[in-house]
Amino acid sequence: MAKPIRNITIVGGGTTGWLAAAVLNHRLQWGFAHPEGVSITLIESPEVPIIGVGEATLPGLLTTLQSLEISEAEFVTRTNATFKLGVKFDDWHSPKGGKPSSYFHPFTGGVQVAGRNPALSLLRYGLPEDLDIDPQLGNIIGHGVAAASSFKSPKRPTDAPYQGPLGYAYHVDATLFAAFLQEIAVARGVSHVTDTVRSVERNERGHIAALQLAEGGRHEVELVIDCSGFRGLLINQALEEPFISFSDYLLNDRAVVVQVKHGEGERLAPVTNSTALGSGWRFRIPLQSRYGTGYIHSSAFIDRAAATDELMASLGDAEKMVEPREIRMRVGRTRRSWVGNCVALGLASGFVEPLESTAIQFVDHACRRLLQCLPSSDFEPAPIEKFNTQMADLYDDVRDFLGLHFTLGDRDDTPYWRAMRNEVKRSDKLEECLALWKDALPDSYDPRRSDIFTFWSVACVLFGKNYYDTPPLSGSDLLPQSVWENYLRNFVNMRKGLLGLLAGHEEMLRLMGEQAVIGESAARRPSHNAVPVRGVALGPPVPVMMPGPISLAS
Ligand SMILES: Cc1cc2nc3c(=O)[nH]c(=O)nc-3n(C[C@H](O)[C@H](O)[C@H](O)COP(=O)(O)OP(=O)(O)OC[C@H]3O[C@@H](n4cnc5c(N)ncnc54)[C@H](O)[C@@H]3O)c2cc1C
Repeated sequence: MAKPIRNITIVGGGTTGWLAAAVLNHRLQWGFAHPEGVSITLIESPEVPIIGVGEATLPGLLTTLQSLEISEAEFVTRTNATFKLGVKFDDWHSPKGGKPSSYFHPFTGGVQVAGRNPALSLLRYGLPEDLDIDPQLGNIIGHGVAAASSFKSPKRPTDAPYQGPLGYAYHVDATLFAAFLQEIAVARGVSHVTDTVRSVERNERGHIAALQLAEGGRHEVELVIDCSGFRGLLINQALEEPFISFSDYLLNDRAVVVQVKHGEGERLAPVTNSTALGSGWRFRIPLQSRYGTGYIHSSAFIDRAAATDELMASLGDAEKMVEPREIRMRVGRTRRSWVGNCVALGLASGFVEPLESTAIQFVDHACRRLLQCLPSSDFEPAPIEKFNTQMADLYDDVRDFLGLHFTLGDRDDTPYWRAMRNEVKRSDKLEECLALWKDALPDSYDPRRSDIFTFWSVACVLFGKNYYDTPPLSGSDLLPQSVWENYLRNFVNMRKGLLGLLAGHEEMLRLMGEQAVIGESAARRPSHNAVPVRGVALGPPVPVMMPGPISLAS
């Protein structure tokens, strides 16, 4: 007879392993659904280091941290975090009028004007001549772009934890984040084993029956979670589940990464910078004490030495803190992330390159879905299939979203960018959507999933890419010109008020540092009383843009 699962074994102690441990433990050991509790063991090899990158996050993380009853001030302080209001894309187009063009994908946006999407009016009328504001869509539908360029945090000094008038995420130190999650998970009952899985024993159903550990011998498993990184130790190696490469769609397969110091007197912008280079793009992620940066590139177009030189040259006189190192990226997804009694999460499950910082968010989504599909000891196939379909769709959808950035540009100055324009594949679904979006602006009825990136995110990228030479004809969202101009003037006035209330970025980080009580989060025993401000605790996934009215109450 089927019995509830009582033991979960996680293999891997990177961000994925510890995030999964903390989330599953919180719900299964301390929640009400499983009164007898589920015991969770995490096995981490002392021989295999964690990847040590993955420092930009998405807003869904706030919900997760809050539902884990983690103190925001402690989290920000312990992980060396800064705020992130979105991603700024530089040099992804040919320079216009001598100036390189940029666009922003913000986390705040989605206003309706008189019940209509104002994007069509922006295309039709543009901005009134006397209004001197950045004309990109992200700046017209929310205040995140303006706050970022004014070096503001998304919060007022008195805002409660995880609250603020703007949508936001964080930049975190990857190693400190994994260690912080570990401290919390272990304090709340997760068993931590430092040992290396050497081999895997399978039973007559083909499921994983036990792991053979280098020191600890045989470790029996019931439900096992593969968080072993790009190697896919259990899912790909032991269970031989195929990996589907995205190399026809996403060319980049290497990164050269380095940490550099802040410049003298430099202010910290609350944004991830993505700057296109000759054979890929460079990320620059601000942390409180340094930048994390790296060149994501394609080894078919540039070798390691040249990529390192180009990266360092692009950083000017920034002082490096460590030697640059190369990371090989496995871009694509495992065909089925869940096979038998093994669920792969994180890099073991898939990776769509870091352009929109989605990897940690995928883990978060997968944990929510796993909790909804939690199997009994029989491992019934229907929930497993549901999980696999959802995860596959999620990876494919984000791959297609990244395709907008890569394939819609007009750069043709290097073989890499020419290949992006002429050779890179787009999925049939993306082609269908692009044809549709030429005639009608993106909306929530588009034939794509929008769990992470809603139609507003798509619109910001399409506008940033100058996809519209002429406004689409269909749709009835056009505002009368006077209403449009009134809206803009009110919006800009409202913005002035809001920017005056927001704490400066560094000021807010300092305040949170003063408020942080070190060890407070690990000491908390989950009460399940936390009500996340942006979404339901471990319910449906939280999309990237926070819409809605902006309260100006101080
Ligand atoms: C260049 C780059 C930039 C990135 N940027 C971002 C970003 O901005 N935002 C984002 O969300 N994500 C980003 N990512 C992805 C992010 O790095 C990962 O999602 C995140 O670090 C989690 O990795 P992981 O825990 O799955 O794997 P890893 O960190 O590789 O951890 C693997 C774990 O498995 C263990 N292990 C391996 N073999 C064994 C064994 N035999 N026995 C026991 N244990 C074993 C290791 O000890 C380790 O603990 C980026 C990735 C790259 C390559």
